[in-house]
Amino acid sequence: MSLRTVTIAAARMLTHNVRELTIDPGPAFSFVAGQWVSLRMALANGEFVSRAYSIASAPRRDGRFELAITRVEGGPGSTRLHEIAVGDSLEMSHAQGFFTLETIARPILFVATGTGLTPLRAMLQAALVASPDEPATERPPITLVHGVRSEGDLLYRDELDAIAARGDTRFRFEPTLSRPSDAWRGRRGYVQSHVAELIEAFGDARASATDVDVYICGLNRMVKEVRAVLKNTLGFTRERIHTERYD
Ligand SMILES: Cc1cc2nc3c(=O)[nH]c(=O)nc-3n(C[C@H](O)[C@H](O)[C@H](O)COP(=O)(O)OP(=O)(O)OC[C@H]3O[C@@H](n4cnc5c(N)ncnc54)[C@H](O)[C@@H]3O)c2cc1C
Repeated sequence: MSLRTVTIAAARMLTHNVRELTIDPGPAFSFVAGQWVSLRMALANGEFVSRAYSIASAPRRDGRFELAITRVEGGPGSTRLHEIAVGDSLEMSHAQGFFTLETIARPILFVATGTGLTPLRAMLQAALVASPDEPATERPPITLVHGVRSEGDLLYRDELDAIAARGDTRFRFEPTLSRPSDAWRGRRGYVQSHVAELIEAFGDARASATDVDVYICGLNRMVKEVRAVLKNTLGFTRERIHTERYD
């Protein structure tokens, strides 16, 4: 596969163990919200590793985009990306994958854990700018349930809260914590235990309660468990279930 050299244009910590990198891919790079890229990195021992990362932002005019990387204990790729400096270069593939939001034909439930949020953030940004002639208030609703361990693990929380509060979107943001502090007033437990209620909350203006597109992203175990709830308990067909697995 042909690789291009890209530059780290900016970096910031989103949480104690998630780092956001802004990538300048250079000219003529295109992607669809939801796709991922493969980064080839040189390690300190002289070896190279390649790892996949979902693009965390929708395509924009300056051509740049964000990645959000969880530091995995002992993981060579994520450790390297937490150390890389602004101005450094990397080798990157073209954008890949079919976990994309083509049309918004019906209500959408986004389900993510950890940095599984990233392609869903990109899709949400793309959905909000799509068809500017049509008021967002007339488009199908989008709900995002994001599971992490505790308050300090929530990424992009202020941004997502602000979109949900805007009033000109039909976006609902539902963070859920598996180990919240006593002060936490939001949802508790794993994402899979909230899925049925959030689908129900889309209301009964639809022909069928299963006429919802569900996009699920994160580690395999969570994806499998959410899929089991959708298929076995709620009777979803596979066409309505879209998944991306990180392991
Ligand atoms: C299509 C795709 C998109 C991906 N997008 C992202 C992304 O946007 N952000 C991101 O942080 N990672 C993402 N990953 C995971 C990423 O490719 C690496 O697996 C991860 O960074 C660990 O690499 P490593 O070399 O540090 O660790 P390794 O030694 O390769 O360890 C891999 C193990 O780390 C665990 N792991 C992998 N990803 C995560 C994670 N995000 N959170 C917690 N544990 C994890 C899994 O148990 C996995 O088996 C994606 C993977 C795929 C296949």
